[in-house]
Amino acid sequence: MLLNLGSINIDHVYRMPHLPAPGETLEAASYSLGLGGKGANQSVAAARAGARIRHVGAVGPEGRWARERMAEAGVDVTHVAVGEVATGHAIINVDAEAENTIVIFSGANRTLDAAAVTAALAGAGPGDTLLLQNETSAQVEAARLASERGLRVIYCAAPFEIGAVQAVLPYVSLLVMNEGEAAALRAALGALPEVAMVVTLGARGAEWLVPGEDRLSVPAFPVTAVDTVGAGDCFTGNLAAALDAGLAPAAAMRRASAAAALQVTRPGAAQAMPTADEVDAFLG
Ligand code: ADP
Repeated sequence: MLLNLGSINIDHVYRMPHLPAPGETLEAASYSLGLGGKGANQSVAAARAGARIRHVGAVGPEGRWARERMAEAGVDVTHVAVGEVATGHAIINVDAEAENTIVIFSGANRTLDAAAVTAALAGAGPGDTLLLQNETSAQVEAARLASERGLRVIYCAAPFEIGAVQAVLPYVSLLVMNEGEAAALRAALGALPEVAMVVTLGARGAEWLVPGEDRLSVPAFPVTAVDTVGAGDCFTGNLAAALDAGLAPAAAMRRASAAAALQVTRPGAAQAMPTADEVDAFLG
């Protein structure tokens, strides 16, 4: 089983002719609502990939909509609490040139605690996987508990924050980052840490690095990308699902790369995640 301690956001997207200046009041030309947050995106990606996935998270009273969207995608949401603190959300302003400004409020995502994690991990052990990102509270407690219980712990170091990475690192089996995050980690530590790592390289593919072993490089599949938002989440969700299902690193990386290639050919983040059947067909 795959467990994901992750953020759940509601993305409010407003389109407007220009971004508002300080003091300006501007009427938006259109408005749309979407499920977002790295955690929710990765859970949806893993569920569509066929994983048995339990999300550990929290939303506010107005977050039932997001919880329902996740359940519809096949995510077990019994450990997504509905509390009083506002649901995490993003206010995304997009102008005519597709330039944007984004305000994020973490809200309920930062109310998760050790008790919630302990309850969600009941019955999990060796053979199971805990996935987490840097958008919730209780990351260290979850990583420590999971590692003590023998789970594989996959940490997606995004949004990058050196203190957060260092705190979970002792409990991590696999660190997943994009190129920019890997560069920031190397700069902060003076070297990359002695842990298995996956570094995604956008249209150039991805690498699996294990200290003392040859690197495993997987090319990206050539596709015409229309929207790369969520590509990393698609890759990570599929990688976690494949590893949890027992696939070897090379096979898991290939599936994740194929899934992310399909995802970037479609608009949107969570709604663009491909199914296992679509990935099978794409790989032929
Ligand atoms: P992030 O979205 O976190 O910045 P990347 O940009 O590295 O992550 O993308 C993650 C993965 O998505 C890549 O390793 C690759 O497999 C896939 N991907 C991203 N962009 C493309 C693209 N233009 N064509 C094909 N695959 C892509």
